[in-house]
Amino acid sequence: MSSTVIGGPGPQPFPPLPPLPEGVMDALRGVVSPEHVSVNDVDRLVYSVDSFWLPQMWMDRGFPPTPPHVIVHPGTAQEVAAVLRIANDARVPVVPWGGGSGTQGGALSTRGGILVDLKRLDRILEIDEYSLTVRAQAGINGGQLEWALNDRGLTLPHYPASANCATLGGYLAPRGSGTISTKYGKAEDLVMSLEVALPNGTLARTPPVPNHASGPDFMRLFLGSEGTLGIITEATMRVERLPAARLFRALLFRDVATGLEAGRQLMVQRLNPLVIRMYDEHSTASLVKRVLGYELDGAYMIVGFDGWPEIAAAQEARAMAIFEAAGARDLGREPGERWWQRRYDFYYPPLGFHLPAMYGTIETVTTFSRILEMYQAKKAAIEREFGHLGVQYIGHFSHWFPWGASLYDRFVMREPPQDPHEAQALHNRLWDVAVQTSLAHGGMINEHHGVGLKLSRFMRAQYGDAWPLLQSLKDAIDPHGIMNPGKVGFDPDLKA
Ligand SMILES: Cc1cc2nc3c(=O)[nH]c(=O)nc-3n(C[C@H](O)[C@H](O)[C@H](O)COP(=O)(O)OP(=O)(O)OC[C@H]3O[C@@H](n4cnc5c(N)ncnc54)[C@H](O)[C@@H]3O)c2cc1C
Repeated sequence: MSSTVIGGPGPQPFPPLPPLPEGVMDALRGVVSPEHVSVNDVDRLVYSVDSFWLPQMWMDRGFPPTPPHVIVHPGTAQEVAAVLRIANDARVPVVPWGGGSGTQGGALSTRGGILVDLKRLDRILEIDEYSLTVRAQAGINGGQLEWALNDRGLTLPHYPASANCATLGGYLAPRGSGTISTKYGKAEDLVMSLEVALPNGTLARTPPVPNHASGPDFMRLFLGSEGTLGIITEATMRVERLPAARLFRALLFRDVATGLEAGRQLMVQRLNPLVIRMYDEHSTASLVKRVLGYELDGAYMIVGFDGWPEIAAAQEARAMAIFEAAGARDLGREPGERWWQRRYDFYYPPLGFHLPAMYGTIETVTTFSRILEMYQAKKAAIEREFGHLGVQYIGHFSHWFPWGASLYDRFVMREPPQDPHEAQALHNRLWDVAVQTSLAHGGMINEHHGVGLKLSRFMRAQYGDAWPLLQSLKDAIDPHGIMNPGKVGFDPDLKA
């Protein structure tokens, strides 16, 4: 289980790759025009690291991870499809790259090959203000898309903290969640239809609407496939009108257990909150203090409602009655609004975690009946196994469903080992303990960051006897295993 993730043992962690088969470079330049094909070493270096801690650590210690052989920047869906046909014929790996903000190593070219940067596919193709949908190319930046919608009084209600660095395709490929997913759903819940370039070089379109009874929902196959089945080139998404009111409020609970039960009440009573975010006692005392400046003892919760002012106010009033009965302290609107204004600051320097610290977001999701016990078990396991090394555990509950909630928990170690092999071994052990504890308590290996390379080794444990079915779908769509090899559990080396 604790297999090496990237960078093998020994003095040369990233052995040199064999060259690309003859003719591939010429074929790529023929399809994507020479100025959009790069083998420049600086470009290759830049694309060898995404937002996964491990490659960043290797780079920091002077060992740049394996780069792609070549980076291509196609300008149309047809060009993307043609690149896949070339790769398929030559049996060369292909890795899609959106914004590179993924934290799971999903966009890393660990086996070299062709990296397909999708950012030239950045056009909004149609906004249907009557049906409230937008059709856009997959490489469009999340922030750009949102600003264009806002100009028309609309919003794509997917607000990840990485919106300004991520792309639309990157939202969908790992099934991301944004800040207001509790009301509006995960990225995958907002999709109407997709266009996907397949490894055989064809472009497939899913049906125009997602809710029908005309056969299985093959669109969903591509949501969560993280570039292992094809490349999303276009998506039609549902949008919403910008709400007339957004109300935020902060509460303080005596502990996580009390806050969890109050949050559950809001969900099962269908009060339709926009957001419920509850920080555990340790996060409240550290992160909330650092970012928002409040010194509080307990579990800090933000709750929000939006829509028509009178309806949002009525929902909030109901929620306040539940919170009062739970003994929560109402901290008022100002701290709730401050959190909304500063919600992304938690994740960026200088306030978020960054090197030289070692950190990882070991997030998961489960039902209400198991969430408290799972949180307690993960906290206990990380503190028991790694506390003596200075590793800290913090968590908050960020995305709520009518049946459960996600636990966004993290480990952080301020002074990790300097030796990169030692640092990697410790990092992987932390992940093993965290993920195995999630699985043992009915949790998923992940709720919204995706699987990528980081969690690939846990997919068989997650799916059990159902795994061969997933593998057979992969084999049918990508028989030569060119698409993002080694990710999402589809590892040609482990297939036998
Ligand atoms: C500071 C920070 C905050 C974050 N906050 C959030 C958050 O709030 N919510 C959240 O869900 N995530 C969050 N993330 C994780 C990450 O930003 C998201 O997963 C994001 O949606 C990835 O988009 P991207 O365009 O950067 O994808 P990339 O990192 O480029 O790629 C991610 C994966 O998707 C594949 N991929 C990319 N584009 C396509 C495509 N068009 N077709 C097929 N496969 C593709 C890649 O091969 C890779 O496997 C955060 C990350 C950071 C660094």
